[in-house]
Amino acid sequence: MADIISLKNRVQETREKKMAADRLRKLQAVRSVLQEAKGILTCEKCHHELDEASLHRERDPRVPYLFCESCAEEYVDYIERLQGRGDKMCYWRNRQWFDIWKRWIEYRGTIDTFLRSKEFRRLLEELKQVGPFE
Ligand SMILES: [Zn+2]
Repeated sequence: MADIISLKNRVQETREKKMAADRLRKLQAVRSVLQEAKGILTCEKCHHELDEASLHRERDPRVPYLFCESCAEEYVDYIERLQGRGDKMCYWRNRQWFDIWKRWIEYRGTIDTFLRSKEFRRLLEELKQVGPFE
């Protein structure tokens, strides 16, 4: 009898461990894509922490991302260069620099598409039902 109870406990324990590992994997999947840090807002491009001043600074309406001052300036220059203008003083903003921005914007768009996918939304729903993120 004791053996059966012990076996049941072990099965239960294994199941709970598997569920905990499964939940952790799901949480990590969400964190890796949302890049959330507790209560800290960071620049979407370079991930530097944004201070109060940069959060309250008036934003250029051409910048649809949460950027630090430096990345916002680069992004605006990128857009200007797309239209054949741009800051000529910044000679290092060459074709490769241009490609970095182009690809980053594509990458960011892909993340947005992933976040809107039904599979990702299902993942968020599942995690919501189990309990709050810690
Ligand atoms: Zn930045």
